[in-house]
Amino acid sequence: MTHDAGDALRQARAALEAAGSPSAARDASALLNKVQADASPWTPLSEAQMAQLQHDIQRRARREPISHIIGRRAFWMHDFEVSSDVLDPRPETETLVDLARQIDAGTILDLGTGSGCILLSLLHEMPRAVGVGADVSQRALDVARRNAHVVGVADRVQWHVSDWYDAITGRFDLIVSNPPYIARDEMSALAPELAFEPRIALTDDADGLSAYRRIAQRAGDYLTPGGTLMVEIGPTQATAVMKFFEDCGLSDIAVHSDLDQRDLVVSGVFLP
Ligand code: GLN
Repeated sequence: MTHDAGDALRQARAALEAAGSPSAARDASALLNKVQADASPWTPLSEAQMAQLQHDIQRRARREPISHIIGRRAFWMHDFEVSSDVLDPRPETETLVDLARQIDAGTILDLGTGSGCILLSLLHEMPRAVGVGADVSQRALDVARRNAHVVGVADRVQWHVSDWYDAITGRFDLIVSNPPYIARDEMSALAPELAFEPRIALTDDADGLSAYRRIAQRAGDYLTPGGTLMVEIGPTQATAVMKFFEDCGLSDIAVHSDLDQRDLVVSGVFLP
């Protein structure tokens, strides 16, 4: 027996709406798409496909991110593999990529690289650059390593298990990071989907600023003269992060906004 694809889509949407999903219609078609693979959207569903769809709907109804169920998230120019081992690439982080790619850099370090989405997108944009991705999580680096092959830059990137700079040697023209910046007391107010992401990628379990202190403090030991440090920040953190950069001797400190005019990125230049 087969099942009409239109009926399956309507049922999926209704089930997700009933579960309170904020994006039921979009999610229903993404999940249908997943089980249909390359078939046309009108192809009837087999019994097995229908069972898979029901299973996926249940996962989404529990508010697991759609990207985890599908296993992919579109970011910049590529579809990145994602899982519960990495922060889901966020669309606003593309603004950081857009700013960073304008810097003339031969060497790039990404601190807390996670899925690798920032570093790998930059290497794709800068065909002569080489990069190092650091993360405290080996499991995250396993995902990043696979993504390097997806993006086609695996021969220009190295991965190191590292607590920020601890296992890193050398100097870089560009250091980028999207560190955990949510404060501990903000965590409980967040969307249920965030419970499926690694907690250490989201919060420092403190004031939300500790990663910036550590990243800024040793930036002078890891930047080449004229090199740039560029970090994503939370919308209320610009003043504090600019102060850390200043205290650590960086110059040309600037804050950049996202498309919604919220502060999103702070950058500074190492001029020893
Ligand atoms: N931008 C993410 C969020 O608000 C936070 C990611 C991070 O802490 N770097 O969900």
